[in-house]
Amino acid sequence: MRICSRCIYDETVSGVSFDAAGLCNYCKMIDNLSAQYKTATAEGEQTWLQIVAEIKRAGKDKKYDCIVGVSGGTDSSYMIAKAIDWGLRPLAVHYDNTWNTAIATENIRKVLTKLDVDLYTHVVDNREADDIFRSFFYANVPEIDGPTDIALAETLYRAAAKYKIKYILEGHSFMAEGVSPLGAAYVDGGYIKAIHKKFGQVRMKTFPNMTFGRFLKWTLVYRIKKVRPFWYISYDKASAREFLEKEFNWQYYGGHHLENRMTAFNHSVYFPKKFKIDQRNNSLSAAVRSGHMSKEEALRQYAKPPYVEDEIIPYFKKRLQISDADFETIMSGERKYFWQYPTYKQRFERLRPMFYVLAKFSLVPMSFYLKYCFPFKAGHK
Ligand SMILES: [Zn+2]
Repeated sequence: MRICSRCIYDETVSGVSFDAAGLCNYCKMIDNLSAQYKTATAEGEQTWLQIVAEIKRAGKDKKYDCIVGVSGGTDSSYMIAKAIDWGLRPLAVHYDNTWNTAIATENIRKVLTKLDVDLYTHVVDNREADDIFRSFFYANVPEIDGPTDIALAETLYRAAAKYKIKYILEGHSFMAEGVSPLGAAYVDGGYIKAIHKKFGQVRMKTFPNMTFGRFLKWTLVYRIKKVRPFWYISYDKASAREFLEKEFNWQYYGGHHLENRMTAFNHSVYFPKKFKIDQRNNSLSAAVRSGHMSKEEALRQYAKPPYVEDEIIPYFKKRLQISDADFETIMSGERKYFWQYPTYKQRFERLRPMFYVLAKFSLVPMSFYLKYCFPFKAGHK
């Protein structure tokens, strides 16, 4: 099996390719981003502080000057604390997909109470949310948790529009998490609409879907910017966690993104069993690239099966009312991918020059431009 000369991505990773020296295209993408953003250097830090000054200017005389999406996880909890450090006045925004664990809810409360930050929450009707999750399961596609990402993005924009806030801070770090390969991680509002229309039973009313029109409205008319501090400044998850535990009595949930039951099911059962994708290789590869972990140690951890909570599969089946027989059939059945369903992908590609300009002005993330606006070569596993 071919494996990258630097990280632990191997040839089973979707869309992977290796250069003559054996380096994978994802390592190269991260090198390019890090050179472009001067990540974790004095220059990167300086650029970030200039952005902070601009956020303050744009938010002058308003109740809040920026939005931070919160999940109770490490990155977003830490981001809120940093925003206060920088002298910003954040509004915390949460999309509740109704699958949260108690730890996540408590973490959000602890951090926001101590920092005296207001919270804006969108709670979706749980039957509707479950109907959408169920539709993705029956559609045989990997992005079962994708609707949550889109709903969160739409909720952030709605809150920003309501309070006339121009900036959204995102906790993503390509250094800490890498850039997830596209083949099994595509999602847009059109994809959700198409899958739900085909497999859903409950009408979509409270689910905050981001249609193409809304996406253009938020970016072109409202011009709400998305900025990612950890693309500029250094960020280390382990020390962030330590800080949160000490400062807020915040609780670690024992694994990447396991603060939500759907995310836990997705990472520990659905992806590895049905799609033979183990997303731990994203953060493990990132740890190797940044020198936080040796390649041997990463491969050793990766070889162990992911931890599965006892309750997670029965909970999933019960909530989504999926019979044992259906569950087995789908888990071992055919795999489908986003290019087999209607999506906005071709529109994004056609409008690539426009999205390039939007990315340059931080109106869409640069990673959106790089991943969504270029044709994806199907055929890669
Ligand atoms: Zn690599």
